[in-house]
Amino acid sequence: MSRPRVALGALLFEGNTLSPVVTGRADFASKYLESGDAIPAKLAATNTEVGGALEVFRSADVDIVPLIATHGGAGGRVAAKAYVEFRDELLERLKAAGKVDGIYLALHGAFIAEGIDDAEGEILAAVRAIVGHEVPIAVSCDLHGHITPEMTRHAQILVGYREYPHDDTRETGARCAGLLLRTMKGQIRPVSRFRRAPMILPAQRQRTKGDGPMREIIDLARAREADGTVLAASYFCVQPWLDLPGVGVTAVAVADGDAEAADRVAGEMVRMHWAKRREFLVPTEKPADAIAKGRALASGPVILADAADCVGGGASGDSSVVLRALLEHAPDLSAAIHIVDPETVIEAKRVGVGKRFRAKLGNHTAKLGGPPLQAEVLVERVEPNASFRYSGGLMGGVEARIGDAAVLAIGPIKVLCASLSSYEYADEPFLALGIEARKMKFVVVKNPMNYQQAYAGAAAMFVLDTPGPTTCNLASVGWKRLDRPCFPMEDGFDPVFQAG
Ligand SMILES: [Zn+2]
Repeated sequence: MSRPRVALGALLFEGNTLSPVVTGRADFASKYLESGDAIPAKLAATNTEVGGALEVFRSADVDIVPLIATHGGAGGRVAAKAYVEFRDELLERLKAAGKVDGIYLALHGAFIAEGIDDAEGEILAAVRAIVGHEVPIAVSCDLHGHITPEMTRHAQILVGYREYPHDDTRETGARCAGLLLRTMKGQIRPVSRFRRAPMILPAQRQRTKGDGPMREIIDLARAREADGTVLAASYFCVQPWLDLPGVGVTAVAVADGDAEAADRVAGEMVRMHWAKRREFLVPTEKPADAIAKGRALASGPVILADAADCVGGGASGDSSVVLRALLEHAPDLSAAIHIVDPETVIEAKRVGVGKRFRAKLGNHTAKLGGPPLQAEVLVERVEPNASFRYSGGLMGGVEARIGDAAVLAIGPIKVLCASLSSYEYADEPFLALGIEARKMKFVVVKNPMNYQQAYAGAAAMFVLDTPGPTTCNLASVGWKRLDRPCFPMEDGFDPVFQAG
């Protein structure tokens, strides 16, 4: 008897329709972009979903057919050419593989490309057309995935990360792979259903550890899994900066042959999420106010969260709004900030280490924050082809390349200028360029969540009221295509919990 064969791939990208950034092949390659046999060679030891799935498949008696594995981080739409190349490579390799007995794909949910609002749905439909109706398809998604009806239609198994910050990516891949193996052995007959609530939420209070508003939703999911009602129950808080129809907080349940049970559990979960919706809203501080409060504290670091410029959510990472506030209100105190600014890096290289020049910092792409910040800077360090390795989070173990980079000093304030954007987990990019951020009075972070874990001992943390495509003030966005009514733009209406 021939050994069962499993095809495996990953195509992750978190799209943000508010972001002007077009994401190209190089943005994927700067995280990871592997094909065929290079996938197990490069990713088996990483924290990625593929790493976890490979471990499970290797310990079972199956042959693995690696397709393509890549992560584009987050941004505006993916360039049509890049998307089509990835999609076609995945499909061509799957066709060339011949008969397979199961398919595992790590996706994000929210992959948008130029002209395409639901890339995952399109890919899963194409995969289904190739393998036919009998072969099980198992998909894992980010907790912020936008889950479409097309996705649950074609994937019998669809599960999400359980944790945010996402420190369980590898475990999620393993869990999904385990369900796929049981399906291939005929032990279970999974069926997936989703329910959606008419709401989008800022990310800050979605933390899954501790006793925030997610607690009871998580406990409900784990209870329905533990009592055997469903095989898997996943909450998808959804990337909120997606101006598309059908976007909303979603729950997906996978049941063993019982579609009604899956629908019932998904419905229970989104109803609970809806009931807690107001607990997810976030108070913010004006940068000047946060800096004044931080200055009054004896110790540091004080974390200034410019969550509106979150590369991990699709922003450009080039906002200099908070740097401007620091220069105005705390030019005498140490601070670290990371700004994506390839033009300034070129200028720093030209001028050379130890020299000064008048820089035009940031806000080249992030135009909502006004013009670039003009300031005299001292070039402290220039690093060609800089890179660092993530010490944790969903990219743990992966090397990130940020291109040529420079450290620019404005008095005690250190500006890390990078040519390429990178998902921000903790202080790895600062350390890679010799900036000890944790010893600074102020650290500007550009994410809504990971910093809470990464700088757990900080003296204070403030979420700033700043402009940008990943703002937590969702009511400030001029939505055009989003289904209405939708919380938090509207409240006090009778919600419909869409099924799929
Ligand atoms: Zn996420």
